[in-house]
Amino acid sequence: MTFSELNLIEPLLQALQEEGYTSPTPIQEQAIPPVLNGDDILGCAQTGTGKTAAFSLPLLQRLHEAGPSHPAKAIRALILTPTRELALQIGDSIKAYGRYTNIKHTVVFGGVGQVPQVEQIRRGVDILVATPGRLLDLMNQGLLSLKYIETFILDEADRMLDMGFIHDVRKVIAQIPANRQTLLFSATMPQEIQKLSASILREPVYVEVTPVSSTAEKIAQKVFFVEKTYKRALLKHLLKGDDIERALVFSRTKHGADRIAKELSKAGISAQSIHGDKAQSTRVKALTQFKNNELKALVATDIAARGIDVDDLTHVINVDLPNEPETYVHRIGRTGRAGAEGMALSFCDDTELPYLRDIERLTKQTIPVEEEQPYHAEYSKLPLGGGKATDKINRSGGGGQNRGPRNAGQGGGGNRRPNQRPAGSQSKDNSPAGSSNNRNSSRNRGRR
Ligand code: AMP
Repeated sequence: MTFSELNLIEPLLQALQEEGYTSPTPIQEQAIPPVLNGDDILGCAQTGTGKTAAFSLPLLQRLHEAGPSHPAKAIRALILTPTRELALQIGDSIKAYGRYTNIKHTVVFGGVGQVPQVEQIRRGVDILVATPGRLLDLMNQGLLSLKYIETFILDEADRMLDMGFIHDVRKVIAQIPANRQTLLFSATMPQEIQKLSASILREPVYVEVTPVSSTAEKIAQKVFFVEKTYKRALLKHLLKGDDIERALVFSRTKHGADRIAKELSKAGISAQSIHGDKAQSTRVKALTQFKNNELKALVATDIAARGIDVDDLTHVINVDLPNEPETYVHRIGRTGRAGAEGMALSFCDDTELPYLRDIERLTKQTIPVEEEQPYHAEYSKLPLGGGKATDKINRSGGGGQNRGPRNAGQGGGGNRRPNQRPAGSQSKDNSPAGSSNNRNSSRNRGRR
């Protein structure tokens, strides 16, 4: 399929050509026609799928075709997104895609002075990209009005929930006219987001794309329940065994990466750490040693690991679980490339159980627990449904008791706990209330 087959107008096609986009991504194919048609959308998609263009292109087209705003300088579209980085990225995309239209936009977010943002709004913008806190702040000061919003886009709704913004989001929505087009995007659909969608969307078209999680299917995964204090001991135990020739080890912090590398070296396991505080030359050297098989372990933070591309990497070890499930997928995607056997081993302490639950929810897989290891702690996984990443762990109930280190056996091969819940139980059978599940809807409810 091509962008012109999606009936996009020439000014957008021209910009897309200059961006080097040759064909639409699946989410764009699915979302652009109904958005152009004025339908509401419930989109299950995450960053990296091309979702920004999926909503920005038809939005720009509708505004362009509608002509100048009435009254003049009224804000006609609002895009609400949880973080400043996302807000800026969306702003950049709109600028790029809309360069041959006369649609104006601006971005507002907290942590910086509001004066330039307010100035922009005063001069008149068609599209406002905002984070919830700053937006409410400006609204409360009477510096902007949402009275003329025709299209409202809620991006990364589940992250809004995780970050505690959902009340602010509801307050914002209360100020937008009910007779609007609403697009809601979320990588996952926890219950609270389903409830929100049901209350703000009208007969939405449901669009979904396979998440990045699909890569995870090719990689064998295990999780090790272990108390934080024993994580480095467990790592040494695994790396001393014969199963692992070479491993990329992830640590959440730079300090942690250094400590791990130091402790491994002391134990006679060749290791180096790489992270943002290390000079580029030191990083390159460590990476070269790792590629040449001179290091058994390279310990990296997520940022530093970005450029690492080692073809026959067999093991990725997560000493800390990332709080963003997508990061887990990116991390483990470093192994199992070019036909290599891939194995991802993750350590999980009791504070990380919510992250594990989020990862299983995103990847729609249950990761088996490796109990045959000397530092096994008896935790119970959190149920997949409902809740959010910031849930407190009920240590007396759900957390379980740690038995402390067992006699060291051979890690790696042992029994696996049977899967506790069928993978995929989060899938379409769980589709949110109010979703029509109708991809080919051509309803026109006569809005604009
Ligand atoms: P997003 O999911 O919106 O964050 O987009 C992910 C990346 O894909 C961005 O860098 C976009 O510039 C890029 N992208 C979006 N749509 C396309 C497309 N149709 N062809 C090529 N790249 C695209």
